[in-house]
Amino acid sequence: RDHPSLVKLLVVFTVSGGGLVASADAKSYDGMNIVNTHEANSKKKKVVVLGTGWAGTSFFRNLKNPTYDVQVLSPRNYFAFTPLLPSVTCGTVEARSVVEPIRRILRKKHLDIHYCEAECFKIDAQNQKVYCRSAQDTNLKGEEEFVVDYDYLVIAVGARVNTFNTPGVEEHCHFLKEVEDAQKIRRTVIDCFERASLPTLSNEERKKILQFVIVGGGPTGVEFAAELHDFVNEDIVKLYPQVKDLVKITLLEAGGHLLNMFDKRITTFAEEKFRRDGIDLRTGSMVVKVSDKEISTKAKSGEISSIPYGMVVWSTGIATRPIILDFMKQIGQANRRVLATDEWLRVEGCDNVYAMGDCATINQRKVMEDISAIFRKADKDNSGTLTVKEVQEVIYDICERYPQVELYLKNKHMSSIVDLLKESKGDVAKESIELDIEELKRALSEVDSQMKNLPATAQVAAQQGAYLADCFNRMEECEKNPEGPLRFRGEGRHRFRPFRYRHLGQFAPLGAEQTAAQLPGDWVSIGQSSQWLWYSVYASKQVSWRTRVLVVFDWTKRLVFGRDSSRI
Ligand code: FAD
Repeated sequence: RDHPSLVKLLVVFTVSGGGLVASADAKSYDGMNIVNTHEANSKKKKVVVLGTGWAGTSFFRNLKNPTYDVQVLSPRNYFAFTPLLPSVTCGTVEARSVVEPIRRILRKKHLDIHYCEAECFKIDAQNQKVYCRSAQDTNLKGEEEFVVDYDYLVIAVGARVNTFNTPGVEEHCHFLKEVEDAQKIRRTVIDCFERASLPTLSNEERKKILQFVIVGGGPTGVEFAAELHDFVNEDIVKLYPQVKDLVKITLLEAGGHLLNMFDKRITTFAEEKFRRDGIDLRTGSMVVKVSDKEISTKAKSGEISSIPYGMVVWSTGIATRPIILDFMKQIGQANRRVLATDEWLRVEGCDNVYAMGDCATINQRKVMEDISAIFRKADKDNSGTLTVKEVQEVIYDICERYPQVELYLKNKHMSSIVDLLKESKGDVAKESIELDIEELKRALSEVDSQMKNLPATAQVAAQQGAYLADCFNRMEECEKNPEGPLRFRGEGRHRFRPFRYRHLGQFAPLGAEQTAAQLPGDWVSIGQSSQWLWYSVYASKQVSWRTRVLVVFDWTKRLVFGRDSSRI
């Protein structure tokens, strides 16, 4: 961006020992002042972290190496525990109980690590700089602009809501992505009940106001529908008895089923439970337009129908942020949907830039290219066939680099071969057997379709943040003693092991103290016992004792007194 007239003095936020200290290093760059938010004269490597969500926070919480000068930039000066946002929408949990100030987290770190409430609006990877402005949606109003340089950049800016360019969605729908969204929904829900209770309205008008529509049958949409249903049944019936029978909750899903990333048993249970609860579940309904009064859907048959509504919550997934799209254009990734990294979370084509969480994905096509290259390297005589010993080497190599492949091979028909080869530990009993390389390749191409992109979840983001922090913590140590797999393009080993995702399971709260849990090993549990497991896991996953106590207190308060329906 061109700012020729920008000569105003830029405020420099360099937090040192809890106070604000002006940095001396400010000079002109492209008509814009460069402000070095890092410690003046620091010889330390400068690390800039963009984002204070799951990935960014996990990164700096796990960072221990004091040899970096770290600058955290984010328009959000707190970490939000997003899995509890649906509970905030109806007052089951208070908004302030699910957030932790970033400065509180950083205070405990005793490292050179500073926070600045600003958003990055441009990444210049060639000159190793990020362009920032003070946060726009806050009192700072985005008026202060500055440039920060880096040696390493960690991009963890998450994603934005995906509206699929559906007309009217931006203007008329609520989203459930940020804490502010959850607070807005909470106020609007109460608003609807108060408006519907006015004496001047007809029952038809009341019904329209009390028609809640949720778009998207994924975990967030389903959990919000369940929360709203509980709120109506447990609290609203007592507080607004005159309108309680006029409430209708409609859940629209374009696909054939709810929760399609869960086990079939969970999907079926959720759909049956919602139908029993009187939630109007409409699968195969795609929203085509939203006006200020009604929402229009198209059924699979092509039939268009409209539902007048009081409130719509749009929860249909995520899309790439504009700053990432712009960065992708710069680095030749314009043809991709999401920023691609390698298995070490390095952005492809930029060695000192890392990306993780919802804003990035590990490039799986490259993974398959790598696997083919491993085969070619092993097949030294170019015969197209490998001996058992060669196959063993290939499998070791692949499994070390790509744990997903190992898991898949274990579960599928190749398992016996893998076991045989693994157990033989180099002492191959059946040396004479030759396996057709094509057969193995066919099995691995099946892996390709299995190795879908990692899900955009807090679990993935947090594990990636912790992994990257561990790499930064042991940067020098692993430089001397690399611990990664052998390089097949070049000599020696990779410095670090690649990122391994460990799936710990997933929950889908379905209301009325019933939760579905899908744990590793396809272990499925639905009911009250899973609800207690959910309480325990979410309490234990809080980032501080302060939020843990607050959340448990809110749950208890709700059990004893019900939810607070004040519209404040
Ligand atoms: P985020 O957590 O979104 O953080 C992005 C950060 O970047 C924010 O601090 C933001 O302010 C900052 N930022 C944005 N733009 C800029 C910029 N230009 N410059 C600098 N900083 C910027 N996952 C689960 O695993 N389990 C669940 O139960 C679950 N429930 C969810 C419920 C809801 C309602 C939602 C919305 C999500 C849920 N998720 C859940 C998904 C999970 O929250 C995301 O996958 C996770 O937040 C991704 O982490 P992230 O760090 O990539 O992005």
